[in-house]
Amino acid sequence: MPIYEYRCLECGAVFSKLQRVGATSEGVRCPKCGSEKVERMLSTFASGSSSGTGTSTGAASCTGFT
Ligand SMILES: [Zn+2]
Repeated sequence: MPIYEYRCLECGAVFSKLQRVGATSEGVRCPKCGSEKVERMLSTFASGSSSGTGTSTGAASCTGFT
């Protein structure tokens, strides 16, 4: 099972949780403040769209632009 990283939207705490593939963040709580408002972060491969980290590698590969 992979470990997913979560970030609490309330207090900003980051924590990881062992979940099965495809699991949702449902029921995941912040260990710090107990909030359920958590956001899963794409662990390791942070090629995410979440809050702008200034890495713009390999711009948009927009195919289908006819
Ligand atoms: Zn929290």
